[in-house]
Amino acid sequence: MRLLVVEDDPDLRRQITAALADAGYAVDAAKDGEEGHFLGDTEPYDAVVLDLGLPVIDGVSVLEKWRRAGRKMPVLILTARDRWSDKVAGFDAGADDYVAKPFHMEEVLARIRALLRRAAGHASSEMTVGPVVLDTKSARVSVDGMPVKLTSLEFRLLSYLMHHKGKVVSRTELVEHLYDQDFDRDSNTVEVFVGRLRKKLGVDVLHTIRGMGYTLSEPDDAA
Ligand code: CA
Repeated sequence: MRLLVVEDDPDLRRQITAALADAGYAVDAAKDGEEGHFLGDTEPYDAVVLDLGLPVIDGVSVLEKWRRAGRKMPVLILTARDRWSDKVAGFDAGADDYVAKPFHMEEVLARIRALLRRAAGHASSEMTVGPVVLDTKSARVSVDGMPVKLTSLEFRLLSYLMHHKGKVVSRTELVEHLYDQDFDRDSNTVEVFVGRLRKKLGVDVLHTIRGMGYTLSEPDDAA
């Protein structure tokens, strides 16, 4: 899953970006409303953390522009604690949730997890396919109850496919959602990661659909 953070305070921007990256997401960051708007308008993010008080273009206007242009990604706004009117303006502009400053990073992480889950139509923080369980809260994966150790990219790949279970996801889509914008992207490496992930899971849930991409589905137990 790939996220965008738009925050002008450099320390806070670094903290949020680092916490999200530690949690296993690919993260891009923007320092003002103009840059943030451009990225959100041109890159396919799975969710956005958007500060409202931003230079050049304020957060509410950025959000309004995205929604007018049909951008539907979940957006978590950061508001000042005493400004209830900011929250109202934010929700009216199309925000999905908010966190008031100052906040605990754990709350931002939990709300992002919930937004991603809801966007994918899941109610629980555990996602399963066959014997494979991915706990979005602890970022742990197990097969038949046994923990499986994945690299951050393998985890990101499995998480994206889990959030889109049953759909065919193209290689291009995976490249766009697994790497941040500074990463040297090569769609061939996706195939390598898929191969490694398949081997680590050791069960038949990750399928290649020739010429189209990949899909996660229950193992075929009709012997
Ligand atoms: Ca600000």
